[in-house]
Amino acid sequence: MNKEFDVIIVGAGPGGSSSAYHLARAGLKVAIVDKSNFPRYKSCGGGIIARSNKYIPYDYSEVVQNYSCEALLADLTVNKEFLIEKEAPIVSMVMRDEFDHFMLKKAIEVGVVFLPEHKVTSIAKNEISLREGKNDFKLSAIYIIGADGAFGITTRVTEHYKLVTQIPALEIELKVSAEVFAKFSKTTRFDFGIVENGYGWVFPKREHLSIGVLSFTPNKFNLNALLDDYLKLLGINENNYKRHGFKIPILPQTNNFVYDNIFLIGDAAGFADPITLEGIGTSILSGKIAADAIIFAEHDVTVAKERYNALLETQLLKELRYASFLARMIYNYPRIRKLLFSHLGEVLCRQMTEIIIGNQTYSSLLTKPGNYLRLIKRLIY
Ligand SMILES: Cc1cc2nc3c(=O)[nH]c(=O)nc-3n(C[C@H](O)[C@H](O)[C@H](O)COP(=O)(O)OP(=O)(O)OC[C@H]3O[C@@H](n4cnc5c(N)ncnc54)[C@H](O)[C@@H]3O)c2cc1C
Repeated sequence: MNKEFDVIIVGAGPGGSSSAYHLARAGLKVAIVDKSNFPRYKSCGGGIIARSNKYIPYDYSEVVQNYSCEALLADLTVNKEFLIEKEAPIVSMVMRDEFDHFMLKKAIEVGVVFLPEHKVTSIAKNEISLREGKNDFKLSAIYIIGADGAFGITTRVTEHYKLVTQIPALEIELKVSAEVFAKFSKTTRFDFGIVENGYGWVFPKREHLSIGVLSFTPNKFNLNALLDDYLKLLGINENNYKRHGFKIPILPQTNNFVYDNIFLIGDAAGFADPITLEGIGTSILSGKIAADAIIFAEHDVTVAKERYNALLETQLLKELRYASFLARMIYNYPRIRKLLFSHLGEVLCRQMTEIIIGNQTYSSLLTKPGNYLRLIKRLIY
């Protein structure tokens, strides 16, 4: 087994840097390659929900732009909104260029080799081909971790992307007047009903707002027009902004996330939460799980594969399946969502906030005896 690295990680987003950090701390020889130099812009709301903090093994407060202790959830079709206030932050707001760079530096500090502006062009078993400028070369490793996002090469060569649903989202970073900023600066806001199967959001950063829209039925709606309408609805008249569109991968239809020696994590695997569509925390968690499996198995890829799939099942997939059940109720059945908001809105929003901050789970919400949501589940099935 004469390889240059134990593990090569493709992609230095939060998932890749999370894996790299844990692997290098355990003494493995790790390289992380990214087609971009860092810091680099990433289209993202940059909201790290409190539930995800436990997966980040160091203090990242130096890159937090704002903390939000208030969540406002609204359904415009039934004209209801609920404001949930907490003493501790519900969401920590980051800019992804700063946050991702910070995580990458943490990995480099513990010995990870970083190769910026190295694009992976093909993967064949233990060998990956890279292009840096006009130069092509190869690197070998026992393990390859696919952390290169929704449309990266690892999910394409494994054809895993075919098993995943892609949700299009559109986002802008918007400077607003001091008066408008003051109105939105404390609250993380989610507006359902601006589109049949989706929502709009406002995340307040240090000096600007991150605003976006997404839809589960993109073909029916023009996200650009929807975003314009959403801004009008919020009473925001600025029009000097750049739109960033991308897709969020959810609902992988498989229990297998390893192809030969390629271990898929984060967006490459399709691990975003199907309700909140947050994927920073799940990419960091899946990165750690992949590292744990590899550390446990040492150089035995078959053992690492079994371990990774098994750990994912208990630590992530079970929750995502319950979340997917709720997501269907909220996004595929607007009438049920309206009914819930009208009659159980306050309780539902409180429960959702408890899940976001990690005091409750989707599975406990749906399986606790006597829980009203369990009754709704019975009504549907
Ligand atoms: C509009 C929008 C808003 C979002 N808002 C939020 C939010 O507020 N909160 C939240 O938790 N999640 C949010 N998400 C989801 C979140 O951005 C992703 O789930 C998260 O970035 C996944 O992290 P990752 O490490 O798996 O991949 P990524 O962050 O996508 O990183 C992949 C890396 O791989 C590199 N790469 C790709 N191809 C190659 C190649 N061939 N060779 C070398 N390197 C390569 C890329 O340059 C990139 O650096 C949002 C997504 C979108 C689209």
